Amino acid sequence: MTATNMDDLVSLCKRRGFIFPSNDIYGGMKGLYDFGPMGVELKINLKNSWWKSIVYERDDVEGLDSTILTSPLVLQHSGHEDTFTDPLVDCKNCKARWREDQIVNNECPSCKSKDLTDPRPFNLMFKTAIGPVDDGSSFAYLRPETAQQIFVNFKNITDSTSRTPPFGIAQIGKAFRNEITPRNFIFRVREFEQMELEFFVKPGSDEDWHKYWLDKRLQWWSDQGVNSQKIKLLEVEKEELSHYSKATFDIMYEFPHGLEELEGVANRTDFDLGSHTKNQDDFKISSKVKENKDSTTKLVIQDLETKEWFIPFVIEPSAGVERGVLAILNEAYTVEEENNRTVLKLKSHLSPIKAAVIPLKRNNQDLVNLANKVKSELQSLGLGRVMIENSGNIGKNYRRHDEIGTPMCITVDFESLENQSVTVRDRDTMKQERISLSEINSYYSSYFKN
Ligand code: ATP
Repeated sequence: MTATNMDDLVSLCKRRGFIFPSNDIYGGMKGLYDFGPMGVELKINLKNSWWKSIVYERDDVEGLDSTILTSPLVLQHSGHEDTFTDPLVDCKNCKARWREDQIVNNECPSCKSKDLTDPRPFNLMFKTAIGPVDDGSSFAYLRPETAQQIFVNFKNITDSTSRTPPFGIAQIGKAFRNEITPRNFIFRVREFEQMELEFFVKPGSDEDWHKYWLDKRLQWWSDQGVNSQKIKLLEVEKEELSHYSKATFDIMYEFPHGLEELEGVANRTDFDLGSHTKNQDDFKISSKVKENKDSTTKLVIQDLETKEWFIPFVIEPSAGVERGVLAILNEAYTVEEENNRTVLKLKSHLSPIKAAVIPLKRNNQDLVNLANKVKSELQSLGLGRVMIENSGNIGKNYRRHDEIGTPMCITVDFESLENQSVTVRDRDTMKQERISLSEINSYYSSYFKN
């Protein structure tokens, strides 16, 4: 049986050190979460898997790590200052604030009053003062998406790598949105991470590339253990499209609280590069862009055949790390009543701990020494975190590692000291087999490489 209940996930995440409410000992802060010892490993593994498939396994994508603090000029020309808003409704009775789409029957969801304000646009970007004088004249935004810094680095990257379309720039990093009502655990939060690829193509080839990236991204989610049956594709209605988009497909997933967006795959056209380009009139720009008197450069590419300069179109797959973690935990969470256990059946490349090495008797120096030796050898193979469990309670250790999704537990017992072998227990089948110490490294690496 898999989890369908958010409370089960929240409770496991707290109990086993995946996710905690942020600023917890001071009462927490809405829409902010911290990733604990297991959560941080799961997040790193998910991000590495994305980076591997987007950058390392291809030959047409470069990486970037840009700043979070962003000049207002960037977000002015990108259109975010004007349009990155949600419609906000106030309840005049209880003073609660809602996003318009949360209001049903023209009624406050909290106090049921019908005395509501008309919706008005509320900008979701966070501002912060820059420099020692906070007089409002010098400020930056915390970026609301990682994408804009990719666009403003376009020339730096093409100049330094000689890339021409089709090629992409990938970035993983924090984004901030002052969501009106953060909710559903880590699904809608105010600080989160995005994994974004901006893939630059020749105008005219954009629709084919859009389909290409949609397929790639669906396959990737399936490779992370997300059941394709729980994924639905939604083509965003024309009137709902973001200001930069010609077409967007939302990859929707059946989260415990309902069907919602896991990732968006948008055709951003030439809007962004066009908006950040100086002397825009020199180029054919298909999107409606505002005049730009601030930019110092042209974000253009020369067609090697026709020698004409053009502004590339952009296909953008943009996925949230937190939403990915939530979907993956939801898929992996399994209650086996017949075995009286809860087990996280994570894909092994995502497991926070790859193997737990357990000396059968706590603090028995010979057993602990041998366990340490096994741990350091497996750790040096570089496949992820391996840990020692020196609590002496093997049943408890198995339960804990089932719940955090450790694929294998390796027990060092007294027989190990005599015949140089260990017991390996498989998380999913619970089968145990005896493996010689001379073979444990290759057993372990072939398990994770397959
Ligand atoms: P939604 O409609 O759910 O608010 P969005 O369409 O505004 O999402 P995008 O701007 O397309 O989202 O951002 C790309 C991805 O970033 C989303 O698919 C999602 O995975 C993630 N994301 C966006 N906002 C949040 C948030 N507040 N908390 C967590 N992840 C988010």
